[in-house]
Amino acid sequence: MKIGLYIKEELSETDIATYIISKINEHEFDFDNDNPDFVIFVGGDGTFLRAVNEYLDQINDIFFIGINEGTLGFYSGYVIDELDEALTAIEEENYDVVSHHLIEGIAADQIIYAVNEIRVENPFHTLISKVYVDDEYLETFRGNGLTVCTSNGSSAYNKSLGGAVISYKLQTLQLTEIAPINNRVYRSLNSPIVISKEESFVLEGHFSEAVIGYDYSTTSIDTDSITIRLSDKVVNLVEKSGFKYVKKIHDAFVK
Ligand code: NAP
Ligand code: MN
Repeated sequence: MKIGLYIKEELSETDIATYIISKINEHEFDFDNDNPDFVIFVGGDGTFLRAVNEYLDQINDIFFIGINEGTLGFYSGYVIDELDEALTAIEEENYDVVSHHLIEGIAADQIIYAVNEIRVENPFHTLISKVYVDDEYLETFRGNGLTVCTSNGSSAYNKSLGGAVISYKLQTLQLTEIAPINNRVYRSLNSPIVISKEESFVLEGHFSEAVIGYDYSTTSIDTDSITIRLSDKVVNLVEKSGFKYVKKIHDAFVK
């Protein structure tokens, strides 16, 4: 079994990597960052999102296992004191795996992938975007921007926008509005809308000066149309055996 390690930048000067690699060897695994079966990520959700991006081309074949260090760590199943427990769980195959589909955005021959959400925002002028579900017209949105999130991403930016938190057991796409104008002249749905994994959102507008955000990254694409759908790429996340989803939500947001 080959185990890779992805550590958040702020921790790269510490001896945490040396400690974890010594533990990997102690448990008689091979340390291998190039073709790992498991990737241990150390940090929080931002670290997880970056680790996924690092391994995009082999993503379906990898199991990610999170050691939370210092941040929210919604995607992290363990803390550093539980490193032995985590490695033993791998040895004994005693863990749960939750497979999350990535979301993909297709625009002008480019394809972008995200774990949480893809956003279209215009920081200069009102963003004007037609919104379709597949080929059916929903609305013409006017406001600051739109986000489309996965179920597992629903507790991130989407939640701050008043979107619903959706169980990872449902595969969905949720569209939420960022500061819609909504007056007598301009009208959009003005509430989140959730669609199934077989459907996609199609956004049409002049997006050349819009910012396309995906997880922690942004880009700009000179395009008039973006199709956003669930991807065939999945990220396999290791959770403690018998982990409880509602407790995870409680601990992250209510506690
Ligand atoms: P960040 O600014 O550190 O992320 C904001 C917070 O969201 C952090 O506490 C992060 O956890 C948490 N988070 C990330 N994914 C989550 C999830 N699926 N469920 C619950 N919480 C989650 O930036 P980052 O760490 O690079 O993460 C990028 C993400 O930040 C984007 O995908 C977007 O969803 C989110 N974001 C949120 C807002 C907002 O709420 N207004 C604005 C911009 C971006 P950690 O502390 O463990 O990293
Ligand atoms: Mn973060």
